[in-house]
Amino acid sequence: MQAALRALRLNTVELLRQPGLRRDVDVALAPADLDVTDERLVGDVVVALAAESTVDGIVVSGTVGVRWGDECRRCLAAVERRQAMEVNELYQDEVVDDDAFELGRDALDLSSTVRDAVVLALADPPPLCRDDCAGICPVCGADRNLATCGCDTVVRDDRWAALEQLDLEAPDDLN
Ligand SMILES: [Zn+2]
Ligand SMILES: [Zn+2]
Repeated sequence: MQAALRALRLNTVELLRQPGLRRDVDVALAPADLDVTDERLVGDVVVALAAESTVDGIVVSGTVGVRWGDECRRCLAAVERRQAMEVNELYQDEVVDDDAFELGRDALDLSSTVRDAVVLALADPPPLCRDDCAGICPVCGADRNLATCGCDTVVRDDRWAALEQLDLEAPDDLN
């Protein structure tokens, strides 16, 4: 097992023996180490977690930092995204809390927790390159952030035009 992955494995015997004990898990992992093969990922996944032994079990909290390339949903420009995914999980020897996970025998392996955070970040809907992205002209395909093409892009829908006419005629029909 690689050193980085080994850092995600905690000795729970030691932690559970002493409530209040805390172990920091600060490690950077290549996505491939986590079995995540999304080509949008850039650089390492940065794990900054702490495992704390409490009377209820072991609480794991902190962040999993992910960086990936995406496309603006309006103009398709490349956008680099960063997100620190919050982690806050409770692991118990005997699960009594509905939201808790079961502790493994002797060791707590955080790799699936980290992997889940990465996958969740990547499932985020595509962003905008900027709040006021003007998008692509539906008529000529020009990137309207870069050029003003002058196309008439007011959306007309003939069905609505027909309805407007009906509305105008309606009062006459009633009379
Ligand atoms: Zn854009
Ligand atoms: Zn245009």
